[in-house]
Amino acid sequence: MPLKKEILNELLEIPDISVQRFYITPQKDLVICAKSTKEEIHCHKCGKLCDKYGMGQSIKIRHLPIFGHRTYIEITPPRGICHECSNGSKKVTTSQKLSWCSDQSKVTKAYEQHLLLSLINSTIQDVSIKEDVGYTKVVSIIDRYIGEKIDWGQINQIGLLGLDEVALKKGYKDYVTIVTSKIEDDIKILGVIKGHNKAEVKEFLRSIPNKLRKTIKGVCTDMHDGFVFAVKEELSDAVIIIDRFHVAKTYRACLKTYRMQVLKQLKKKLSSEKYAEFKDAIQIVKNNKNGILTDEEKAKLRPLFRMSPGLKKAFSFCRKLTNIFNSHIGTKKAEQLISEWISEVEKSELTCYNSFIKTLRKYKKEIINYSRDRKNSGFMEGINNKIKVMKRRCYGIFNLKHFFQRLVLDVQGYALLSIKTGL
Ligand SMILES: [Zn+2]
Repeated sequence: MPLKKEILNELLEIPDISVQRFYITPQKDLVICAKSTKEEIHCHKCGKLCDKYGMGQSIKIRHLPIFGHRTYIEITPPRGICHECSNGSKKVTTSQKLSWCSDQSKVTKAYEQHLLLSLINSTIQDVSIKEDVGYTKVVSIIDRYIGEKIDWGQINQIGLLGLDEVALKKGYKDYVTIVTSKIEDDIKILGVIKGHNKAEVKEFLRSIPNKLRKTIKGVCTDMHDGFVFAVKEELSDAVIIIDRFHVAKTYRACLKTYRMQVLKQLKKKLSSEKYAEFKDAIQIVKNNKNGILTDEEKAKLRPLFRMSPGLKKAFSFCRKLTNIFNSHIGTKKAEQLISEWISEVEKSELTCYNSFIKTLRKYKKEIINYSRDRKNSGFMEGINNKIKVMKRRCYGIFNLKHFFQRLVLDVQGYALLSIKTGL
């Protein structure tokens, strides 16, 4: 049975057009010639209904592929004349607006949505190549659907506000601050701020409308002074929660520094054969996994810890703290256990946690706040990972507007395009 135009009409799912005929180009593109079935033409000047006045210019509009072939809709929209706006020989005419195609764009809205969906967790270059659509065209579609910055009018409530800093380039002090909102499982990107200093963060917080400030249930941040003080000064009522993920990152970094010192000395002291015997043990300390160590792991660690009792202590203090943060306990209990941990570490001769203990004392209240509402702590880790992946993928996005748009697409893309993910 030949491909009938009625079938194409049904498959197109585009309102107000009827397929007249179709042809295939030598490049195997499918071109569907359609006609508008809509009568009304509104004047582009006054918006009033026009009288028919011939036909406009033929246009070829890219649509979703059919059987993997590039597909175009060729249409000649009718033209209308507005008698109210026309003046003598000066005729005001308008071509019918096609509801299924964005103005000026030679792409259907359905195809634009398809391109946006392809962009989630991908790059502009990649989508541009796979779809054979120009780079600037893809950029212009992103611009049309995703703003350069937050439109507060579109936000009903903020819930948990997240502040996180990211270095744009490894090794450079080129920081941006990512501001997020979390309500249950719904995460939104509120902003990408240049810099991470108090003044810069305050300026952004000040831009949050009063109505929305009242909906902030808490502020999740890392231990960066700029963030904590910006929040204290600008959102004085907000509960500050120092994200568990950032706390863990800090004390694990202390262990890492110490581990490297110890291993460097061991390497000097021991023959390379003897040092190689500790390979598995070193890996276990390096991985520093959560949860219980197996008997096999413990057995592997024993000889290494005999060589360095300090490393044994440092490792066990690190695990102990993680255990506290992972336990389902209230604020009071958490505070007591953390205080005990501090005094135990201080009694030992270990100094590797000194800087961390200083921070812990300084932000104790904010750190312990994680235990008020456990389900909310740790969401920053997810965002942080997304940013890391995005940075690696879109190497070279140093334009904050683009950074914001890509992050919105990656984090909120499925929701924005009303795709049910079942996640
Ligand atoms: Zn008019």
